[in-house]
Amino acid sequence: MWGETDKGVLGQPLGAGAALEEEAVGKCPPQREEGAERVTVGKFPEGYFEGLTREGGSREAKPDHLARDSSRTITSFSRSFVVANTSYLGHCHRIVKGFAMCLPWVPGYVRPAVRARGVKCEAMERIVVTDVVAEARRALGERLLILAHHYQRDEIVEAADYRGDSLELSRRAAASDARWIVFCGVHFMAETAAVLAKEGQRVLIPREDAGCFLAHSIDYPSLMELWRVLSDVMDPDEEVIPVAYVNTTADVKAFVGEKGGACCTSSSAETVLRWAFSRRPRVLFVPDQYLGRNTARRLGIPEEEIVVWDPRFPDLDRERFARARLILWRGTCNVHVRFLPEDVRRVRRERPEAKVIVHPECRPEVVELADEVGSTSYIIKTVTTSPPGSVWAVGTEERLVSRLAKENPEVEVFSLAEVPPFCSYMSLTRPEDLGAILGGLLSGEERNVVEVPPEIREPARLSLERMLEITSK
Ligand code: SF4
Repeated sequence: MWGETDKGVLGQPLGAGAALEEEAVGKCPPQREEGAERVTVGKFPEGYFEGLTREGGSREAKPDHLARDSSRTITSFSRSFVVANTSYLGHCHRIVKGFAMCLPWVPGYVRPAVRARGVKCEAMERIVVTDVVAEARRALGERLLILAHHYQRDEIVEAADYRGDSLELSRRAAASDARWIVFCGVHFMAETAAVLAKEGQRVLIPREDAGCFLAHSIDYPSLMELWRVLSDVMDPDEEVIPVAYVNTTADVKAFVGEKGGACCTSSSAETVLRWAFSRRPRVLFVPDQYLGRNTARRLGIPEEEIVVWDPRFPDLDRERFARARLILWRGTCNVHVRFLPEDVRRVRRERPEAKVIVHPECRPEVVELADEVGSTSYIIKTVTTSPPGSVWAVGTEERLVSRLAKENPEVEVFSLAEVPPFCSYMSLTRPEDLGAILGGLLSGEERNVVEVPPEIREPARLSLERMLEITSK
């Protein structure tokens, strides 16, 4: 039976579980939303997932949809509660609007976990993903590779075989012989892994809707349109070489591959741009205009030789385009664009001992004021190898910044921005999503497989292989 206590709604403790529950409650006190009402919870059959309104309405879903649907269910069932028994996880979760509590695992005991909408209960999520990852590793061994980008939630990063930036993860994927590569990141990254994958390898993504603001700013037809417009003032096939930041979809990479260009990452942009200028007089750099401009400044390209193409207002200034050596696409990363010069000035004023380090997707005005600029890997290396007592204001995604702070207590690390920006797409992947993918594999089902058609895959692979070749020299 499920019961109700003065600490909120709890599962009925059984035997030794009670003491552990008390301990856990002490560490993670229940939180209550204003106006939430207590409910009494009944017992439900195995394999069922039911959300009941106080009025007695109900709905069912497949057990393994629990994770994905739970928050949505709570959103749509105001003052409702959900009881679920997910057979592949072997746990029972209880999620009640208004309360958050995590309870420990006691073997042989049906573990209740209570969570409220909008209230974080990371301890519970860690337990869930740890159990299913361990089970998947036992059953699948080296046939399974889990990759996680640095901007993923902590629970996901902890569950992965490797964490890294997009280039590191692409390399890991390309070097791996695993049958299943579970890519915890955003869609273009998993697509990149699928393009580089060997015959028979399958890339799966926990959240198919994990996109990227930057990658969405460009597609194949809009690139073709620019190429057509450029042909009014030059012969683009002869004069222009395209370079694509890896934060692009496979069809954009394919375009670049077809036109003789290469991909780049934030750490290799300078090397790839040098390579591109050694081949043709002009470069089209897509889609991050700030990464393009910041790199151009390092290469000493003057402002008058740089133009920006805005696909929303496709007006070709013939004179400027005819003069241009570097054509930039008007795309930005929604996270890095949020750091402003005022942030740097405020840190200088309030924490003069701090050094400012930023990602090259930040605005050029911010990059100019910073002490250091570099890719995610560069930021991590610089901060983690700095002398104890160093103070860093970091201009990049918040999950990485707070992990750096947590894992490096001998230095002080904080976000450059007063309201630290995080990537909402990267945050979509929750432990339950990873659990659902692994649970699928354990039951013989491949879910959310990322596939790239061969006619796109081959030229896209060419652009990526050129990048890997250029950067390996
Ligand atoms: S941080 Fe920016 S570039 Fe990276 S996935 Fe999010 S929106 Fe895209």
